[in-house]
Amino acid sequence: MKNLRDFTYPELLGLVSSLGERPYRAEQIYGWLFRRHAPDIDSMTDISKAFRERLKEEFYVGGLKILDVKKSSDGTRKFLSLLEDGGRIESVLIPEQDRLTLCVSTQAGCALGCRFCMTGMSGFTRNLTMAELVGEVFAAISLLDEGERITNVVLMGMGEPLSNYDNVLRFIQVLTDGKGLGFSHNRVTVSTAGLVPAIIRLGKDALVNLAVSLNAATDDVRSRIMPINRKYPLDELIETLRTYPLHGKKNITVEYVLLKNVNDTLEDARRLVKLLRGINCKINIIPFNPFPGAAFERPEEQRVLAFGKVLQDAGYNIFTRQSKGADILAACGQLKGRYEE
Ligand code: SAH
Ligand code: SF4
Repeated sequence: MKNLRDFTYPELLGLVSSLGERPYRAEQIYGWLFRRHAPDIDSMTDISKAFRERLKEEFYVGGLKILDVKKSSDGTRKFLSLLEDGGRIESVLIPEQDRLTLCVSTQAGCALGCRFCMTGMSGFTRNLTMAELVGEVFAAISLLDEGERITNVVLMGMGEPLSNYDNVLRFIQVLTDGKGLGFSHNRVTVSTAGLVPAIIRLGKDALVNLAVSLNAATDDVRSRIMPINRKYPLDELIETLRTYPLHGKKNITVEYVLLKNVNDTLEDARRLVKLLRGINCKINIIPFNPFPGAAFERPEEQRVLAFGKVLQDAGYNIFTRQSKGADILAACGQLKGRYEE
């Protein structure tokens, strides 16, 4: 049996034609799936009973089962979902002044093994399917309070989105399609640890925002905390960002996790300024979010401020990410996809 939520519009066109149906059937099914959030094939009431029965022989509509929801004192909600194969992933709803951002996971685990990341330290299981990515959005919608609406989607949960390129791209297509989930591509952001060839590809394939986790300004430090840097070192990554097509947007986002005594000195900040020269970017400073067993510490407030000031004085827009949901281990890099022991 195949999950219909795994089909993009062109793929549904192929599917209905292979079943001897007219193309408008694809449009109907697509609308039912992604705009009207149909929970099953029987809900698609304007499709003939006979064709629904035919579909049900091979297809179904599958979602995620929410196992647990944790609500932080700041309103952040982290939820744990069950995948069909028994795997578990986490997603987070983050309220801010005028937005409600959904942070989705793109893989169960992550193979890149960044040392400061709980997901990275717990290993890799598999890529999520497009149906599962869509399932995270629908699961989140089911948790919303009266009057709430998700305004932004960030691919910043568990996993490296660009290691799951095809499914992520198909998800983005459905997410940003007016006939699909209908999010503006300005409100969707893909965060990557720096997979150079995939970044170049994404620049051609999609219009969404790009965020890059830089986290260090020298190869020495970066390779130590992010093994992927040995494959795609800083000069290649920076050159890729310099030439990344902005599609009319102002800038890309550079993320920098501040680790005490590892990458948080004023000298590091100055090196970062030098490295980023000529790149249109804003900088997200993320003071390290601790998790059980972590080998790093969060720098003191003073350090964080001083680091940010160097960047600001150099003309950069900076944003220091508050640790939303830290009390429920829902902040950046703290997702693990298991029940907390
Ligand atoms: N794999 C992608 C997206 C998921 S990680 C990436 O690396 O960009 C999302 C962000 O969380 C990244 O910027 C990462 O550097 C940051 N992060 C990971 N672990 C963290 C931690 N313990 N504290 C603060 N930020 C962390
Ligand atoms: Fe993977 Fe991103 Fe965590 Fe690195 S920071 S291990 S790339 S999820």
